[in-house]
Amino acid sequence: MAKRVLVSGGAGYIGSHVTVELINAGYDVVVADNMSNCDMTCFEGVKKITGREDIPFCQIDCCDYASVDRLFSDYKIDAVIHFAAFKAVGESVAEPIMYYRNNLVSFLNILEAAKTHGGCNVLFSSSATVYGEAENLPVTEQTPRLPATSPYGNTKQMCEDILRDVVFATKDYDGAAQGPVKGIALRYFNPIGAHPSALIGELPRGVPNNLVPFITQTAIGKRECLSIFGNDYPTEDGTCLRDYIDIVDLAKAHVVAVSRMMDGKMKEGYEIFNIGTGRPVSVAELVNAFEKVNNLKLNYKFAPRRPGDVVAIWADTRLANEELGWKAERSVEETLAAAWAWEKRLAGK
Ligand code: UDP
Repeated sequence: MAKRVLVSGGAGYIGSHVTVELINAGYDVVVADNMSNCDMTCFEGVKKITGREDIPFCQIDCCDYASVDRLFSDYKIDAVIHFAAFKAVGESVAEPIMYYRNNLVSFLNILEAAKTHGGCNVLFSSSATVYGEAENLPVTEQTPRLPATSPYGNTKQMCEDILRDVVFATKDYDGAAQGPVKGIALRYFNPIGAHPSALIGELPRGVPNNLVPFITQTAIGKRECLSIFGNDYPTEDGTCLRDYIDIVDLAKAHVVAVSRMMDGKMKEGYEIFNIGTGRPVSVAELVNAFEKVNNLKLNYKFAPRRPGDVVAIWADTRLANEELGWKAERSVEETLAAAWAWEKRLAGK
């Protein structure tokens, strides 16, 4: 019988791409989402791409323990991939209580249910934000985390630590009622792009904070002009450097990571992997690549630096390459073409 993976927040941007890749790899999936930050567009897209009309979908809020517990009673869950969280940095600064309550309580509930229902493999979606403005680049998993600069970033650090502690506390458990919880945290760099089918992609609400949705919305005419935040940074062209990882490549990393857990291949009960390309790309380079690959001109201007941005960050991906046997495959051009195809499809073009 196929192993079953619960994808919390599975109707969102990353969750929907991960659901597709899990199904492609032969796993059964249960999607849970409270729909607080998405509609059914991506879940419908997932069904079309996979040709599976029967993917179980549970509209629950993971902050409600009874709902999470019921889910674990209704399905035998072999692994959980936890995406259900708020993700806007600026909003988290304005609404810290809401962010801490949502992001921490939902994860605690998942862990409690995992433990109570005989143990489980838990994959947590973390972020390169935990490294802050790192001194040495590229960052490895051993690079010290720096104090978070937003409640959002802090919830990523706290959830990593919570997972580590829960794994540690349950590791000697061998009873029938409470089995081991194992955990992997994937630290994503900058996920961008869309599925090549253009049936699923990023659906930002309101004005996008992230670069690529802002670029595609400007190109389609929804936004007048892209502001490139800062061109006086100490980099070659003066703009910030990031590690942009294709969303399908990122989704595939989740499949190999949950397989590693479910197949008993972990070296430690709690492991961390950087998920990026290992290649730094500047904001100006990304904008130029978008124009070139899609054969269009983008309206953009240079604007002051955005508070809180780090100058440069990119991943040392050796651990993920060697231990997970995973490597980013798609070029930034392919990814930007997919992002544009998705935006055009949204606009009905
Ligand atoms: N950026 C930009 N204009 C925008 C949005 C982002 O110049 O409208 C820059 C931002 O300053 C950073 C990079 O694009 O250098 C990536 O930002 P994003 O918000 O996508 O991700 P972050 O790295 O902040 O998580």
